[in-house]
Amino acid sequence: MRIRARHYATGRLVDIVCEKGVIRSVADASRDRPDHEAGWVSPAFFDLQINGCDGHSFNSEKLTREQIHHVVQVCRKHGIGGFLPTLVTTSQRALVHGMTTLRQACANDPEIAYAIAGIHLEGPYISPEDGPRGAHPLAHVRPADWDEFQELQEAAGGRIRLVTLAPEVPGALHLIERLVQAGVTVALGHTAASPGQIRDAVVAGARLSTHLGNGSHALLPRHENYFLEQLASDKLWASLICDGQHLPAGLVSIIERVKTPARLILTCDAGPLAGCPPGRYRMWDQDFDVVAVGPSTECKIVVAASGFLAGSWAFTDLCVGNFIEFTHCTLAQAVDMASAQPRSLLGLPPRSMETGHPADLLLFDWQPGGAFVVKETIQSSMS
Ligand SMILES: [Zn+2]
Repeated sequence: MRIRARHYATGRLVDIVCEKGVIRSVADASRDRPDHEAGWVSPAFFDLQINGCDGHSFNSEKLTREQIHHVVQVCRKHGIGGFLPTLVTTSQRALVHGMTTLRQACANDPEIAYAIAGIHLEGPYISPEDGPRGAHPLAHVRPADWDEFQELQEAAGGRIRLVTLAPEVPGALHLIERLVQAGVTVALGHTAASPGQIRDAVVAGARLSTHLGNGSHALLPRHENYFLEQLASDKLWASLICDGQHLPAGLVSIIERVKTPARLILTCDAGPLAGCPPGRYRMWDQDFDVVAVGPSTECKIVVAASGFLAGSWAFTDLCVGNFIEFTHCTLAQAVDMASAQPRSLLGLPPRSMETGHPADLLLFDWQPGGAFVVKETIQSSMS
C-alpha cells in the first residue's frame, strides 16, 4: 500500500509504503501511482476520553459488544485510531457490567482490541458539589475504595489504565499511591480541592489534570483555587476539551502558554449523545438536551435541568482544528497532543511515522485558518 501526502511535521510530500500492517518506508514522493492520497498524513489520533456516541454509552447496564464496535467505527471516521472507553460515576453494578463487556469484547473482536488500549475510570471518587461534579449523578458519588476499584479492575481484565478522581475525597490520597504502584495513571478532575490538597495529590503521584478548566464552580476565589494550582504545577499535564463550547479561545491560549505544548493533551470527551441530532434525550435518570450552536451543524450536550455541559458532541478532529485556531500553534504540535502525547503519558509504545512502526495513519485535508477534514484512518490491520 502506497500513501501519498504531506508529512504533518516536515510539510514534505512523501510516499509511505506499508506492508502487513507495518510502515516499510517513508521517502520523498515517487512517480509510482499511490493507493491513497490526501493533503496531509500523520499518526492516527489517540483519545483518553470517549464516553460513547450515537446514543450508546459505555456506562449503560445494557452495553453490548455491537455497540462498542459501532463506537470504534465512528471514532475511526473522525481520525481516532485508538482511545480509552471512559466510564463515569454510576452504580458499582453498572460499572462492573461495562468493564466486563469491554473485557469480553476485546477478547473476542480483534478490531475492538486494537482500538482499545485501556479503559478510563472517571469517578465515582469525585466531588459531590454542584459544578465540580459536572453531569455525574450525585447519588453514586462515593469515598475512594481500593477494594471496590480492584473489583472493577478484575472485571476489566486489568485494562483500567487511567483513573480520574478528586484528591479531597476521603481515602483518595491513599488510593492514588496504590494506583500508581499498580501502574495506573492518576488524573485529577471533578474536584473542589484546596491548593494544598492538589499539591499533596501531586506528591502522591497524580500526573494529569482531566479536562482542566471544566468540571468546576462557576466562581472561584481569585488567587487561591484548584484551577490556578493545577495550572501552576509543572508536574501535572493537562487535557483540554477544545470543542469550542467547553473553553473560550483566550483561556485555551493561556493554558497552552503556561503548560507548554509538551504537557498538553487534546481530548474530545465525546458524550454518549455525540453525533446525535438536536432534541431531548433521557439517560442515567436525567434529561439531556442536544442543542445546535451557531450557523454550523455543530451541537453541544447539556443537562436539561442545570444547563451543565455533559461531555462533547464533537470528536477529536474538530478539537484539533480549533486548538490550532485558538493558539496559533503548529499543525505538528496539535496533532502530537492528540496522538503521541496521550500514549506517552500512559506509557504505551509510540506510533511514529517511521520505518518499522505499525501503520496507524490519518489522512486529512487542512489549511491554516481552515477546518480539519479527515479523509481516512488507516489501521495496520487493513494495510
Ligand atoms: Zn468529566
